Amino acid sequence: MNEEHLRRAIALAAEARAGGNPPFGSLLVGPDGTVIAEERNSTLTDNDITAHPELKLARWAARSLDPATAAGTTMYTSCEPCQMCSGALARSGIGHVVFALSGDQLNGLKTSGGFPAVPTDGPHLYDEARVPVEGYYP
Ligand SMILES: [Zn+2]
Repeated sequence: MNEEHLRRAIALAAEARAGGNPPFGSLLVGPDGTVIAEERNSTLTDNDITAHPELKLARWAARSLDPATAAGTTMYTSCEPCQMCSGALARSGIGHVVFALSGDQLNGLKTSGGFPAVPTDGPHLYDEARVPVEGYYP
């Protein structure tokens, strides 16, 4: 854990807030400690509910880095990644994540609480739904 990188993530969070967005920031650091990318939350100014910095960096890493390079990177982020970003990070190949605030600490700082879960209903139609999937994954 590198406190300088984590403090940069916190500074990016402050920049996001100053720019009219929720206060979250992240950076991606190579194995030699070099900062290779930075992002700030831009969900409000981009009118995009997915514009979390962790997700933007995960997408960039998956597109731009070969798997071995991505595996050697560490994301420093001002807050523990949410479920959406955690899913993207798992698919991105990024090797490690270091965060400042935990999700519980964040929720303790909110007066409005978190987001309610969307009710789901399933599984259904297994015999039909499995057809396009079977054999796709090795
Ligand atoms: Zn997120």
